Amino acid sequence: MKHRRLMDIDVKEKKVLVRVDFNVPMDGGTVTDDTRIRAALPTIEYLLKEGSAVILLSHLGRPRGQVVEELRLDPVAQRLSDLLEMEIKKTDSVRGPEVQEAVDELVYGEVLLLENTRFEKGETENDSELAREWASLGDVFVNDAFGSAHRAHCSNVGLGEKLPAVAGFLLEEELSALGSLARGEVEHPYMAIMGGAKVSDKIGVIEALLEKVDTLLLAGGMANTFLKAKGWEMGDSLLEKDHVSSAQEIMKRAEEMGKEIILPSDLLIAREISEESEKEVIADELIPAGWRGVDIGPATIARFKEELDKAKTVFWNGPLGVFEVDAFARGTMEVAQHMAEIQAWTVIGGGDSVAAVEKASVAAKIRHISTGGGAALEFLEKGTLPGLEILREE
Ligand code: ADP
Ligand code: MG
Repeated sequence: MKHRRLMDIDVKEKKVLVRVDFNVPMDGGTVTDDTRIRAALPTIEYLLKEGSAVILLSHLGRPRGQVVEELRLDPVAQRLSDLLEMEIKKTDSVRGPEVQEAVDELVYGEVLLLENTRFEKGETENDSELAREWASLGDVFVNDAFGSAHRAHCSNVGLGEKLPAVAGFLLEEELSALGSLARGEVEHPYMAIMGGAKVSDKIGVIEALLEKVDTLLLAGGMANTFLKAKGWEMGDSLLEKDHVSSAQEIMKRAEEMGKEIILPSDLLIAREISEESEKEVIADELIPAGWRGVDIGPATIARFKEELDKAKTVFWNGPLGVFEVDAFARGTMEVAQHMAEIQAWTVIGGGDSVAAVEKASVAAKIRHISTGGGAALEFLEKGTLPGLEILREE
């Protein structure tokens, strides 16, 4: 699928509305991780250099259509101002006279950030009146918010339908990195490592990836359901009984296709989720009652590394254990470090997965780290997203 691109249009002396993803982690009024703000800089800097007036829209958190003081974008504007080394204008409202006035006064080469789009109920409802009002503020729409592209909201889809709409540089980078994975147009062996909490969140993407990859490595909470399907006793492990049959079907499908699904052969089990918990490694397919699987065991770590050594392309989503607890982080940390060392095209997606590679201090050695969690997975599953459809070339 082809998308209209920012590079292909003239933005000189245009008012350009840009949907960015500034949904950053905050703590008491300060931005604690500005990765997403930095990721939007190439598009913003390009527009400024080309002589546009830039109007930015983003959501932050889930204010559910109301003004929530802690979710105002002022700290984001401040950080953006520091990064761009220039003044950033900001409105306290999302629509209405204050916004109109700020846009009227905006000069080419300036940046204006509107208040949190989700303070307006119409944002998540994709309200057409709100779309019309926003569209009237500018000449062109740029979608650079990959992390929100799986939502059909007003500031990406509704607004994008009402103006000439193109993909920003971040969005394009995500599409080129994830697009080749989704289509399977990559160097083989192609492997996916899937972990995380629940299998129910990820059945669709596992099924889609299975069609493309050579090997699927499963771990984390979601692998418990597969182990159960193979006859393991899982004790008090996180388990989705309703999905044991889907796990069975996926394994059957893999066998029919001659693809390998590699499950943990040993697990670290613990009595409770805490640093001090009693813990041990088991490999006998039997977790006693009162114990739960919290990480992959050493034999599984070794096996995963061995597989990764053969890979030319790797996609990883989902921690391999309860990595937030240091005592249960070894599998995730060791596999992340190994992934940073291999000679392969490596891609990571997923909020907690990105946090895990950062915890392992290897983020810089991963070829592509997606800024979208849910969006990356849905894109791999479906090959498109609502926020991309509006950019489709006729
Ligand atoms: P991502 O955000 O990268 O898509 P998920 O949200 O699916 O990842 O999963 C992350 C969560 O999975 C982490 O909070 C982690 O503690 C949890 N998890 C991983 N392995 C297990 C396990 N064996 N039991 C319980 N929770 C687990
Ligand atoms: Mg998560």
